[in-house]
Amino acid sequence: MAQPRIVVVGAGFGGIHTLRHLERRIPAGMADIALVAPNDYMLYSPLVPQVASGLLTPQSVAMSVHRLMKRTRLIPGHAVGVDPADRVVVVRRPTGELSPVPYDRLVLAPGGLTRAFDIPGLTEHAFGAKTLADAVLLRDHVLAQLELANDTRDPVEREERCRFVVVGGGYTGVETAASLMRLCEEAAKRYPELRSVIRWHLVDIAPKVLPELGDRLGRKALDLLRSMGIEVKLKVSVREVTDDKVVLTDGRVLPCRTLIWAAGVTPSPLMETLGKPTQRGRLEVDAELRVPGIPDVFALGDAAAVPDLVGESPYCPPTAQYATREAATAAQNVIASILGRPLKEFRHKDMGLVVDLSGNDALARVMDHELNGLTALGITRGYHLAAIPSPTARARVLANWGIRMFTGGETSRLGFAEAVKAASFVSNEAVDYMDAESAAREGRRLMENLEERYGRD
Ligand SMILES: Cc1cc2nc3c(=O)[nH]c(=O)nc-3n(C[C@H](O)[C@H](O)[C@H](O)COP(=O)(O)OP(=O)(O)OC[C@H]3O[C@@H](n4cnc5c(N)ncnc54)[C@H](O)[C@@H]3O)c2cc1C
Repeated sequence: MAQPRIVVVGAGFGGIHTLRHLERRIPAGMADIALVAPNDYMLYSPLVPQVASGLLTPQSVAMSVHRLMKRTRLIPGHAVGVDPADRVVVVRRPTGELSPVPYDRLVLAPGGLTRAFDIPGLTEHAFGAKTLADAVLLRDHVLAQLELANDTRDPVEREERCRFVVVGGGYTGVETAASLMRLCEEAAKRYPELRSVIRWHLVDIAPKVLPELGDRLGRKALDLLRSMGIEVKLKVSVREVTDDKVVLTDGRVLPCRTLIWAAGVTPSPLMETLGKPTQRGRLEVDAELRVPGIPDVFALGDAAAVPDLVGESPYCPPTAQYATREAATAAQNVIASILGRPLKEFRHKDMGLVVDLSGNDALARVMDHELNGLTALGITRGYHLAAIPSPTARARVLANWGIRMFTGGETSRLGFAEAVKAASFVSNEAVDYMDAESAAREGRRLMENLEERYGRD
C-alpha cells in the first residue's frame, strides 16, 4: 500500500506541534509528511514584543523548521485554495507560480492576520506588531523618532516624534506598549531633554485592558501601566490617521508620527475559501477537529472555531496554549482516521495567562491564582522557556535575558526603518486566495499537468 500523504498547512503553534506529534507517533517510512508554509521557521509570537524592544534577537524567537522536524518535507509557499474532490491543496510558491500538493489527510493551521479596519489613513500610516518584520521595523522607527526629535529645534515636530500611540488593550498591545516604552526610557538616557516630552498612549474601544486576566488582575494591569507613565484611554478608538496626527473617536487630536496597530487578529482568509460555515472567519470544526462535509480535513488554532467542551465559551480561545494542545488531538485523530480507529474529542481546561510588562513587572493568572511582581515575572519567563519547543531557541532567549541583566539595553538603530518603509502592515501579510470553484479548477488542471510530466504517483 502507498504511504498515506499527510499535509499540514502552517508552521505556527498548531502546525508545528501537530507535525512533532505525527513524527513521534508514526514510524519512519510509514507516511509521507509535508508542511506547507511561507517561512522555514516557527515564530514564537508571545515574545515578539521583546524583539521590538531589542531585548531578544529575532533569531531567538524564530525556530528553524529543519531543526524541529526530522522527516517532514517543507513545501515553501502559501496554501491559497483546497480542492476537496481531488484532494489537492493549491500552493502559491514564493515565485508566484501555483503548485498542486495532493493529500490523503490535510491539517489546516494557518493562524490569522492583523485585523485592519476601514479607518482613513490606517493602512498607509500604521505599524503592525505581529510579525518579526513588524517588530524589527518598529524598534528602528521608534529609535529614529527620538534621534530626529533630539536633532530638531521645532517644538511641534519634537512633540509629534516623541508621542507614540498603541491601539489594542489585549496582550499584544499591552506588551508592545510596555516594552517599547522601556526602550524609550533607555534611549532617553542619551537625550535628557526629551524625557519630559516622550508620551505613550494605549487606546482601546473596550472598557478594560487584558479582559482575559479577569476583573481584579485586569485592574491591576491598568494601574501598573499608568504607574509606568502610559496614558491609557478606554472606550475610544481611532477615527483617522495622517503622517503627523491621530484623531480619536472622542474628537481628541494627538500630534504624533507613530501609530502601532494591535487591535486583534482576523483568521486566515484561506478558511473562508472552503465554502463551509465559519464563526467570525474561523472555520467551524467538530470536537474531533474535523471539518464537517470535507472528508479527511482537520483544522485547529486561531483559524478554527473549535468547540470548547470544558469552558464556558462556545469556542476555544485563539491562544498559543490552545493551539498547542489542539495539535496533540489533531495528530492523534489523523493517525486514528488512517487506521480506522475511533477519534478523540478535544478537551482542555484553560491554564491561565502570563503577561510580561517589561522591566520587573509582570502579571500571571495560573489556574485560579492571580500573581504580580517578581513572582509573576519568574512564572512568565519560566512558562515561555518551557513552551519554546527548540532547545537552541531556549538557550538563545535565556542568554539574551542574561546579557541584558548584566550589560543593560542596546539602543542603536539597525537601519531597517528606511529599507522597508514602503510596506504596510497589511501588505506585509497580503496573499491572493482562491474561491472554492477556482481552487477546484486549478487543482485539477495542475494535477493533470503534473501527471502528464511525471506520471501518476
Ligand atoms: C505579538 C503577539 C503576542 C502574543 N502573545 C500571546 C501570549 O502571551 N499567550 C498566548 O497564548 N497567545 C499569544 N499570542 C497568540 C498566539 O501567538 C496565537 O494564538 C498562536 O500563534 C496561534 O497558533 P496558530 O498555529 O493557530 O497560528 P500561528 O502560530 O500564527 O501560525 C500560523 C502559521 O501559518 C502560516 N501561514 C499563514 N497563512 C498560510 C497559508 N495560506 N499557507 C501556509 N501557511 C500559512 C504562518 O506563516 C504561520 O507560520 C500572541 C500573538 C501575537 C501576535
